[in-house]
Amino acid sequence: MNYSADLHVHIALPEKELSDEQIRAKLTAYKDAGVTFLRDGGDSRGVSLRAKPIAEELGIDYRTPVFAIYKEGCYGSFLGKSFKDFDEYKSLVDEAEREGADFIKLILSGVVDFCGGSNDFEPFLTQEEVSLMTGYAHGRGFSVMAHVNGAENIKMAVSAGADSIEHGYFMDEQCVDMLASSDTVWVPTIAAVAAFVGDKKYDQALLKQVLADHAKMIKKVWYIGGMIGLGTDNADIDKEYEILKAAIDDREFDAHLLSTLEQVKWKFTK
Ligand SMILES: [Zn+2]
Repeated sequence: MNYSADLHVHIALPEKELSDEQIRAKLTAYKDAGVTFLRDGGDSRGVSLRAKPIAEELGIDYRTPVFAIYKEGCYGSFLGKSFKDFDEYKSLVDEAEREGADFIKLILSGVVDFCGGSNDFEPFLTQEEVSLMTGYAHGRGFSVMAHVNGAENIKMAVSAGADSIEHGYFMDEQCVDMLASSDTVWVPTIAAVAAFVGDKKYDQALLKQVLADHAKMIKKVWYIGGMIGLGTDNADIDKEYEILKAAIDDREFDAHLLSTLEQVKWKFTK
């Protein structure tokens, strides 16, 4: 099947600078591949904001948070803007609104390290902070897309009412139960990690373990009634589709995936 939507892209990456012509070329490649819906995860240079009208001209429904919002000193500088305290956070949400954001993107953890670093995912923020931040965004009429890895961080995001969880590596059983009983969509972005298989730069044993655990959690969340969305983090859409389909192995796969997509389209707009 040719899936027509990617719920997690970064049109700005990996390049440092992009002209409007380069943005148009990237979007045209999506269009030529039959992709008509893109949800961007934000960037720090306003590229996704410039991409929005170009995408519309091409007939692509393109949603952007403009920039991601992250805690100063933590992971996320290349994806957006940082805050020191709640007042600064609120100003960033207001700024995103003025610039025409479709939703708010929060960065609540780092990324999985396959090169010998730690994967303990020490929380950047407390539950109270994550709940206040999510609540403020909701109060302004925004849905929240949360970049998050590590079981404790994932629980915080789901408890706070985040509308989508991106990545979600290192989940535990409690996360699975919480996701299944929430309206939160999980976008596991597994193809981006699977792309490292065979690359000697990365710890291959760890990589295989993480991929196997992730696939197991995807299947569990699916079968106890959670929502899984297809987003690639700039990897291959067909690969993401294939991996999810194989992990889940359900005759209703396409129908559920499409209904989740409809929910995301409906929610992630101002
Ligand atoms: Zn991302």
